[in-house]
Amino acid sequence: ATPTALLVGTGRGAQMGILIKGPEILESTRRVDTVVLDKTGTVTTGKMTLAQAITEPGTERGELLRLAGALEDASEHPIAQAIAAGATAENIELPAVEGFTNIEGKGVQGVVDGHAVLVGRESLLAEWSITLSARVSAAKVEAEEAGKTVVAVAWDGEARGILVVADAVKPTSREAITALKALGLTPILLTGDNTAVARRIAAEVGIETVIAEVLPADKVAEVIRLQESGRVVAMVGDGVNDAPALAQADLGLAMGTGTDVAIEASDITLVRGDLRGVVDAIRLSRTTLGTIK
Ligand code: ADP
Ligand code: MG
Repeated sequence: ATPTALLVGTGRGAQMGILIKGPEILESTRRVDTVVLDKTGTVTTGKMTLAQAITEPGTERGELLRLAGALEDASEHPIAQAIAAGATAENIELPAVEGFTNIEGKGVQGVVDGHAVLVGRESLLAEWSITLSARVSAAKVEAEEAGKTVVAVAWDGEARGILVVADAVKPTSREAITALKALGLTPILLTGDNTAVARRIAAEVGIETVIAEVLPADKVAEVIRLQESGRVVAMVGDGVNDAPALAQADLGLAMGTGTDVAIEASDITLVRGDLRGVVDAIRLSRTTLGTIK
């Protein structure tokens, strides 16, 4: 294509809310055959809300929300904000936290009211040899199979309960995935969340391939693995933890509603923050470059 055609193409993209960083990007967009999608904030709205609090015997619900809420109030993770907001909505006052530590992709820990509190994945508790009771564990599995994210809470070396957080699939995600498949592309869901949750969300939008329980630092390795298998990979994400994978991918697309770090690491910004922008970008590259792949 001529420079003029590329300029017209990127201009048309801008009108559709697809901000393309350079003329060569339309060519990499056209070559893509695999679209890796982050779950939270990309396929789903990322606006999580606290749906349920289930306690272990001997723990009060208010105390579970108070200690976990206080700790999560210090974290910026969407799960954490849902938990802190859920506790506050029940008029629970959140005490200060000492020694707050974020354990990337796993959870958080800190001292609240003299208790050493841990909130995060069940495997994080397992690192401290803390296990949920059979009843609470069964409730966790049930919530996860329904597509909800569950975090476990422990303090002073004992499991205290679980918190169930719900996030909704964006209303446009399913339509976009159907269109991507019709264009001949393979969508893959990539997430740090639990496998059962990931499978359920994937099924809801029509994605067949799921890579779950991936630590933030390993997302980029998954992209490299796909590239080494001969795929031309687009990565779509919104979070700080997606940035290395967005930069590594043959094409990085950031949600305009996402973090600045993700936008900076990407080739394309989808202003509207919905997946139909990925479909529009691919169609645009094909029409601009005049090739039917
Ligand atoms: P995603 O890839 O969906 O954006 P993350 O990599 O950010 O997910 O987190 C992976 C998992 O780690 C979460 O599903 C949750 O179980 C746990 N986790 C991370 N941060 C927190 C937190 N602040 N509080 C509780 N759990 C957390
Ligand atoms: Mg995300």
